[in-house]
Amino acid sequence: MRIVLVGPPGAGKGTQAAYLAQNLGIPHISTGDLFRANISQGTALGKQAKSYMDAGNLVPDEVTIGMAKDRMEQPDAEGGFLLDGFPRNLKQAEALDENLKAAGLKLDAVLDLEVPEDEVVKRIAGRRICRNDSSHVFHVAYKKPAQEGVCDVCGGELYQRDDDREETVRKRLEVYHTETEPIIDYYKAQDLVVTIPALGAVEEVTQRAMAALGRGE
Ligand code: ADP
Ligand code: AMP
Repeated sequence: MRIVLVGPPGAGKGTQAAYLAQNLGIPHISTGDLFRANISQGTALGKQAKSYMDAGNLVPDEVTIGMAKDRMEQPDAEGGFLLDGFPRNLKQAEALDENLKAAGLKLDAVLDLEVPEDEVVKRIAGRRICRNDSSHVFHVAYKKPAQEGVCDVCGGELYQRDDDREETVRKRLEVYHTETEPIIDYYKAQDLVVTIPALGAVEEVTQRAMAALGRGE
């Protein structure tokens, strides 16, 4: 299956993607995680991306679209993928469609995680991620690690993302409304969108998403 997850920052896309990707046997591709891995490795791409991310803006399409395409063309993504955080504007959505079409492929579904803004703010404020791998995601109240400050998955140090500070979060939410939300209508026109109420326990949301994909128990 080829699936796109959309929703505001902090909606739970990364958290859901980890479970869904495992259940569906497809890789979880997060452009945010790819950028953060590049930043921690000190690559040229990471250096290009960092100032945009720190300011809460989108990294330019010329950088992002190529990076996402390269990742989707890796052998593990031949049978499908779950995109998290890409596409994030209409230009990226159109580029994705073109790339898929050129390969004779198409998306199967776009899952829109719906969470009220006050909840999103609480989720982001308490989010802590792992130094070793930013896809290892915790929350100080809602998903506590067994030992405070330590990643359950790999023992890495947990920290708060720079862009999860309040001023940047406001900017990211604004960018979501102006640049990313329009892709929902774009995909609605293709009859691909399923809205998933994303309040409630992580497992409940996963069950709703699996049911929406026709893979419910
Ligand atoms: P996104 O990838 O959409 O930015 P994350 O998956 O990183 O969001 O989730 C944001 C924060 O909210 C994380 O700290 C995560 O542990 C927490 N979280 C995710 N899903 C839920 C949920 N259903 N209930 C409570 N907290 C959640
Ligand atoms: P995320 O981890 O999805 O919250 O993304 C963190 C930051 O990475 C965003 O605020 C952007 O600066 C950047 N980013 C991630 N994905 C994209 C994308 N598809 N297009 C542009 N910028 C992105």
